[in-house]
Amino acid sequence: MGIHLMLALLSCLVSAIREQGNLNLITQALKAVGRKMEVIPDPTTVHFHLPNDDLSVRIHREYDDFITELTSKFPHEKEGILGFYGDCWKIFNSLNSLELKSLEEPIYLFGQFFQKPLECLTLASYLPQNAGAIARKYIKDPQLLSFIDAECFIVSTVNALQTPMINASMVLCDRHYGGINYPVGGVGGIAKSLAEGLVDHGSDILYKANVKSIILDDGKAVGVRLADGREFFAKTIISNATRWDTFGKLLKGEKLPKEEENFQKVYVKAPSFLSIHMGVKAEVLPPDTDCHHFVLEDNWKNLEEPYGSIFLSIPTILDPSLAPDGRHILHIFTTSSIEDWEGLPPKEYEAKKEEVAAEIIQRLEKKLFPGLSSSITFKEVGTPRTHRRYLARDKGTYGPMPRGTPKGLLGMPFNTTAIDGLYCVGDSCFPGQGVIAVAFSGVMCAHRVAADIGIEKKSRVLDVGLLGILGWLRTLA
Ligand SMILES: Cc1cc2nc3c(=O)[nH]c(=O)nc-3n(C[C@H](O)[C@H](O)[C@H](O)COP(=O)(O)OP(=O)(O)OC[C@H]3O[C@@H](n4cnc5c(N)ncnc54)[C@H](O)[C@@H]3O)c2cc1C
Repeated sequence: MGIHLMLALLSCLVSAIREQGNLNLITQALKAVGRKMEVIPDPTTVHFHLPNDDLSVRIHREYDDFITELTSKFPHEKEGILGFYGDCWKIFNSLNSLELKSLEEPIYLFGQFFQKPLECLTLASYLPQNAGAIARKYIKDPQLLSFIDAECFIVSTVNALQTPMINASMVLCDRHYGGINYPVGGVGGIAKSLAEGLVDHGSDILYKANVKSIILDDGKAVGVRLADGREFFAKTIISNATRWDTFGKLLKGEKLPKEEENFQKVYVKAPSFLSIHMGVKAEVLPPDTDCHHFVLEDNWKNLEEPYGSIFLSIPTILDPSLAPDGRHILHIFTTSSIEDWEGLPPKEYEAKKEEVAAEIIQRLEKKLFPGLSSSITFKEVGTPRTHRRYLARDKGTYGPMPRGTPKGLLGMPFNTTAIDGLYCVGDSCFPGQGVIAVAFSGVMCAHRVAADIGIEKKSRVLDVGLLGILGWLRTLA
């Protein structure tokens, strides 16, 4: 399965494509290269189908509509619901009011602190906290707490007690602030637009360039070597591979720096996904079907189990132009580990893909769409091996997952590394997984690099102080 097809079909929950606020990072990135995308507003971010007498909750675009729906299911917890989501808004509003740049750059950081001290202190106070602990301050009902777990699981693939409050708040509020907007033609269009804009502005992008190693000179990162033997040299090397891949593969043979040892102590690789991309006859979907669904059938305990819960997106609900007339596209995915798929000869691998996909489709048929299996006109299945191969991610991992109960985001490394000249970016850096989070990590990295190569202001003394403090804080996680 080509990655292009995967991207074209994946109907992500992409927010951050809007005009207002400072967290509209995709709009800002597109604007910087002279591009703008046409989008379609999504009225319902997710339709949850959960255990306990078929608990059904829709996350409406309008916050008040969502709160009205949730409190109608849990009227005795109205205060608790307002308290928990109210804290999320405090964090979101603070983040959204700041100019987002590198938290590793002291001149910017102190500048923001003097301009917005209250917002900065709010964020600092939530930095070591997790969503589950805060939810428990306000909410007692175990079903509602399980719902909050499901909300967080979508963000982080772990329950609320393990999800940093800042990450949860970014997603739980951003979806209402301007809403989720679906790019016309599919989310692959975002990368395509950015790439075209960058080339128009004089950049070169090299495709099919498999980096095998980072070249060091006297301990400093100075270049990269590709699988075909070509070498490229630069002042600065930025790795978008995960930190495990960067240090485990691209710097294989080098001693693992202490910082990375700490990261690997606090975080493990989250499992990967099994993805099913299908074309189906349109009549199998009821007329009022929502675009995004999260399905957990009988038992809350299955939330984090492999294949336990099912994510489903139907992008053609919003953008019918993606499929031929009379057809819909379904992207179904569920957590799965590479260990289930390794070592299988090709025939057995193909047979297992069919078998597991059939079970998932039957579960959706039973829960949501009777007749689904017999309405399929196209089907392709991707496994953790697909993720590993096309995204070059060790074990096809979704990203970092805390080993135990983390101290919020305290243990997450930023962009600088212990190797001079080498920076990391993406979901194994602060603030973690998800499109808005990795876009934030990209903005932070660009700023830190700009300071280091002399485009932005920097102070060597303050740098040493701040980086020392941040390194020490991470050891507390
Ligand atoms: C099925 C699924 C559904 C998701 N749904 C959502 C959603 O609805 N909303 C949301 O916000 N997030 C969603 N996410 C999460 C989001 O997609 C990720 O968090 C994000 O894409 C991670 O970005 P990244 O840049 O860190 O890594 P990646 O997207 O993995 O990008 C890294 C890039 O580096 C390249 N690379 C790696 N190693 C090398 C090498 N050695 N040489 C050359 N190139 C290399 C890879 O090919 C890849 O293109 C979803 C993820 C999955 C798997």
